[in-house]
Order: sequence, then C-alpha cells, then structure tokens
Amino acid sequence: MQVPFFRPDISEDAIGEVADTLRSGWLTTGPRVQRFEIDFATAVSARYAVAVNSCTAALHLATEALGLKAGQAVLVPTMTFAATAEVVRYARAVPILVDCEPDTLNLSLEDADAKLAALREGQIWSGNERSPKPVCIIPVHVGGVMGDAAQVRAFARRHHLWVVEDAAHAFPAAWRRSSQANWQRCGQGSADVSCFSFYANKTITTGEGGMAVTDDKAIADRIRLMSLHGLSKDAWGRYADNGSWDYQLVEPGFKYNMTDIAAAIGIHQLKQAEKMRLDREHLAREYLNAFAAVEELKLPPVPENRLHAWHLFPIRLRLDRLTIDRNFFVEELKKAGVGFSVHWRPLHLHPYYRKCGWRPEQFPVATRVWLQLVSLPLFPAMTDVELKHVIRVVKELCRKFRKQRVVTGRVGEISKQ
Ligand SMILES: *Cc1c(COP(=O)(O)O)cnc(C)c1O
Repeated sequence: MQVPFFRPDISEDAIGEVADTLRSGWLTTGPRVQRFEIDFATAVSARYAVAVNSCTAALHLATEALGLKAGQAVLVPTMTFAATAEVVRYARAVPILVDCEPDTLNLSLEDADAKLAALREGQIWSGNERSPKPVCIIPVHVGGVMGDAAQVRAFARRHHLWVVEDAAHAFPAAWRRSSQANWQRCGQGSADVSCFSFYANKTITTGEGGMAVTDDKAIADRIRLMSLHGLSKDAWGRYADNGSWDYQLVEPGFKYNMTDIAAAIGIHQLKQAEKMRLDREHLAREYLNAFAAVEELKLPPVPENRLHAWHLFPIRLRLDRLTIDRNFFVEELKKAGVGFSVHWRPLHLHPYYRKCGWRPEQFPVATRVWLQLVSLPLFPAMTDVELKHVIRVVKELCRKFRKQRVVTGRVGEISKQ
C-alpha cells in the first residue's frame, strides 16, 4: 500500500469554477482574484489582502513595501524553508539566523535577543557586512502553531523592527493570550504584513499562489503596485467596461500577480478551509492517541490557547532509544509505502549559509533537533485505511529498532544505556 505525503482536496465546485473561468475569456488577474482577496481578508479579519503568485512573492513585496534596503539586517529563523531568508537577499540585506524553541520549533525570541547583542558587538560578521542595522523580524509558525504574537510585537517594538509574518503554514490558525482572552486569527493584526502560501501541498491551495495581508493602506497599495510591474492600473482596470486604456509606470516592479484561474480554485478552497482543518485536527488526534505510549517517539506539542492549522504532523525520533538514525527510519518508511518529508534541514546547515559564516554551534537546538524530525502524511482526504497503515508502519519500526535496555545493578533499575 502507498500513502502519499499529501493529496490535495479540490471540490467539484472549484473544478467547475476553473472551467467557467476558462470559458469566460478572462484568464489573468480579474474579477475572481478580486473576489478571492475580499473573501480572504474577511476570513482572517484583516483590512487588505493582495493576491500574488506565491508566498515567496508576498514576502518579497512585504519587505520591499516596508522599505528594506541593502546592508540592513533581518532576523529570520534557521528552522524554516528557503524562501523566508532568500527574500532578504533579494534586497541585498542580511539574514540574521535565529535558533528555535525546543518544543514548537518556532523562532526563539531569547536567541533573537542574543543574536542582536552579538550583532551589536560585531561578533557575527567578519568581512564587509560589518554592522548591518536590524530593521525587521520574520517569524514562521512552524507546522501551523502560532507563536505568541503579542510577545513578538513587544520584542519588535523594543528593537524598532517591522514584523513580517511567514504564515505559509498558518491558515486557518489563531491564538489568544489566555483562556479568558479573545481569539485572534493569524493575519488579524499579528504582524505588519502576514504572508500566506497556496502552494500545492499547503492547507489551502491554488496550485501556486500566495496572499499578503495587512491593515495598512499605504503598504497594501505599495504591494499591489509592485506586484504588477509598478503599473498604475492592472489589465482588468484598463479593459473592464469603465476602465481607461492608459496607465503610468510608477516604479520598476515585479511580475507576481495571481491569475483568475488560480483564484477560481482559491475561492472554493477558502469555503472548505475550516472543514479541512477539522479533518486534519481529527487525523492529528488519531496519531497522537495511537503514538501516546510509543516511547521511541516525541509527539508534536498541542499548546493551549492556539488554534492549530495542522499543516504538518512532525514526529521526533528519540534516537537514544533507537538503534537506527532518522535517515534509516525514513528509508524504511519509503519501503513500506509511507510518504514523508523533513521540515527542515535548518538554513545554517545549507552550503550557502555556511559560506556566509554561520556555524552549527550557534544554533544548538535546531542542529540537534533536525536529526530527529520526520513529518508524516496529514491531509483531509486521507482515508482511515491510509491512516491505519501509517500508524502500523511507524509502530512496527519503533518496535523493530528499539534499543534493548540493559538491566544492571539492583533488580528493576534500568540504566540510561
Ligand atoms: C511553502 C513555504 C513558503 C513558500 O511558499 P510558496 O507559496 O511556495 O512561495 C515559505 N515559507 C514556508 C515556511 C513554507 O513552508
């Protein structure tokens, strides 16, 4: 039996809407993108939403709109995907990598403080980029669990930083200060700009796509302008009945606009989003129950006061209790037909960032933890048979490769090994 890591769940309504779009004669940015933007802004309780062709584009446009310049510095978690840090390099600015929290794997504000101090003292950079000025922080909500948005905001205020949220995993997600406080959605004032992904295997998809969300009109306008070459009017604005043919080139922008074909999928994915989240939550609970007594595994935390998007189900192997390492474990998963992924090899362990001078000892948590990480299949269309297969295979592997505990000394005393 083969269980894929992910299988998208596209409704017949979405397929029909794509067909209607194709027949309508209007394929690029137009009425369906407008509708998707309005619906998405409503869904996250934000004022403005600008649809683009990826989350990477949204992150790039967000940092551009905030005014990120060459030689400035941006705090970025090392435990993330390439995009979060690469957009900083687009501006020739400097990503300052930050270690993660040991439980959620979200960016550690304590280490962010330490890295800023090291930066001030000139301990981080040798070479020409000696003392870049920190101007922005880009937290990532790993797997769909939000960090404490109020703490991030307070940290940012203290250090005069913008907050751009990489919310690629965090729709729909929410947090609250305490059980008495109101829920706040990811995107509802949790950052200056929140950037969502609609990549093929994200919680909702448009094939490829992204959304930049903000409450600031000037930032939203700038993002919109730069998402389409810096033109004063998009094509729909020019060709619609009340449009005018003329446009002005205001800035040399980018080509990041979303198509109406993609938005046609997005409009219907959005309608299904909460149901799909509940389906993933149900599956996650099944995993948590099934693995609760498996001592070779550490399970993902379910923090209180968080509405979990459950984009990922990352287990951690307790390597001290196993005779094999993670790489061997995932090979066995593959042989047993179980799709998997690893989120992630931290950025500082990639050749590019090593070349920039980052060293593993600067990120003790991420350096250790990533060797234990395996993300299991988790998607709304997952069948009961598929779920059971994954559970059976994982449990069997843990049993088969369990380290025999050596009994020494007094009877009943179990040595650490
Ligand atoms: C998927 C992902 C992105 C990039 O999203 P795209 O829409 O593919 O550009 C960025 N950050 C994180 C954390 C992601 O998982």
